[in-house]
Amino acid sequence: MTDPAAPRPGVGATTVTGIIGWPVDHSVSPAVNNAAFRQMELDWVYVAFPVPPGRLAEALTGMKALGIAGANVTMPHKDEAASLADDLAPEARRLGAANTIVRRDDALIGHNTDAEGFARFLADAGFEPRGRTAVLFGAGGAARACAATLADGGVARLIVAARTTERQNPLANAVEGTEVEVEWLDLSGGVTRVAEADLVVNATPLGSMGERLVPSSAFTSKQTVVDLIYRPPLTPLLEDARAAGARAHGGLGMLLHQAALSFELWTGRIPPLDVMSAAALADLSRSAPI
Ligand code: NAP
Repeated sequence: MTDPAAPRPGVGATTVTGIIGWPVDHSVSPAVNNAAFRQMELDWVYVAFPVPPGRLAEALTGMKALGIAGANVTMPHKDEAASLADDLAPEARRLGAANTIVRRDDALIGHNTDAEGFARFLADAGFEPRGRTAVLFGAGGAARACAATLADGGVARLIVAARTTERQNPLANAVEGTEVEVEWLDLSGGVTRVAEADLVVNATPLGSMGERLVPSSAFTSKQTVVDLIYRPPLTPLLEDARAAGARAHGGLGMLLHQAALSFELWTGRIPPLDVMSAAALADLSRSAPI
């Protein structure tokens, strides 16, 4: 018999959260968060909000009017979300990007859980940054979060390789006050330095369509290689790194940790990571790679 006190998702008082991005149909976050809401018997729901570039301000105003409790923000809106939020938590201010919005009455507070999500993932992976050399591809929001984590962790050398120089300032701001000195290179310059890296991180979308960012011969068995892409779960970077004997990780670990931190900001509860992980894997196996 149905428990009359049990939450009835989608009926009446359901609390709404979601993810704002463009495109957003590839996101595993609805599956991950809804699985946790169900498991914890919370009358909450998480939906995908496809918001085209140029319409984020309207979407955020709509969040207030509709009483949406919170949202994740993904490409290409994270930087703009930070500038549009009514207030910022310290990590979002540091990174100049918000991946999480929390509505408090009529104010939207921007948070960033990417850096702590990456830190927790690195700890799970058993990688200790102190004194090590890292090559980071990309200089966008995710790269900034990784750079901040690595700088806080005491990395000795941080080599950032990006196709343009336009996003150097926000990344430099994110590591300001730490000891690390950033060496800037273009993408091909970064590729030539992979062999000397203890850690290689891809924070560009290159690889999601099968592109090969780094030649397979560049990897060694002593390295840890991370591709922040999680769809598809296996990219050429990961395949090549594994073939060389390196420890290679896709983006799912970071995604789950940053999602769990956002969930906690909205609900005040710690979600079950194992349930979230199982939901993500099921979603990834069901749908075709983009
Ligand atoms: P972003 O802010 O748009 O930054 C993307 C970076 O990749 C920029 O440096 C950009 O260069 C570069 N880039 C984009 N297209 C490129 C191309 N065709 N060739 C070379 N460089 C290119 O995006 P983001 O939020 O940092 O996300 C980056 C990647 O990380 C995405 O694949 C995203 O899905 C993934 N991610 C994963 C997680 C996770 O939890 N696993 C979290 C966040 C992001 P320009 O500045 O020159 O455009």
